[in-house]
Amino acid sequence: MKLIILDRDGVINHDSPEYIKSAEEWIPIDGSIDAIARLFRAGFTVVVATNQSGLARGKYDLDDLEAMHEKLTRLVEEQGAELGAIFYCPHHPDDKCKCRKPMPGMVDAIEAEFNISAEGFYFVGDSLRDLQAAKTKGCKPILVKTGNGKKTLLQLAEASLQTDSPLILADDIHVFDNLAAATDFIIAN
Ligand SMILES: [Mg+2]
Ligand SMILES: [Zn+2]
Repeated sequence: MKLIILDRDGVINHDSPEYIKSAEEWIPIDGSIDAIARLFRAGFTVVVATNQSGLARGKYDLDDLEAMHEKLTRLVEEQGAELGAIFYCPHHPDDKCKCRKPMPGMVDAIEAEFNISAEGFYFVGDSLRDLQAAKTKGCKPILVKTGNGKKTLLQLAEASLQTDSPLILADDIHVFDNLAAATDFIIAN
């Protein structure tokens, strides 16, 4: 099986500093649903791994999150495709859990669920913590410029100036405008 892991906010849907708190606020980025459908048709099991600390912060509840994910699932199914799974971390950063990215716990859970190693598979994100989780698990990190992506590019550039920085990742990261462009590359390769 071919696996691909996608972050959610800023990759599939528009993100907001105020959090995405409801299905109404969950708006797909242009081309992202079609990209998921194309990945599915190309034989990928598409799995979402998303930090949702808004749950622990009381910004929204599990019913709201479920409604968002029903919307995502329905939009993908309307394209004749399906998502492999959606994994989320419900914790607050202070909880020091093992699943909130940059920790790799969600990828561990994906490996257990699908009985597969994630090593060598693509992991698409818009934030540094996505790329760090990807690196920790030996995935191939892809950065998209949607969401936090442009800010993340700046962080990477700054980190690369500090030789002792643990954040030096830039050499092996592919950068694309959005998930649709990343998908063009992935399918062509
Ligand atoms: Mg994100
Ligand atoms: Zn967690």
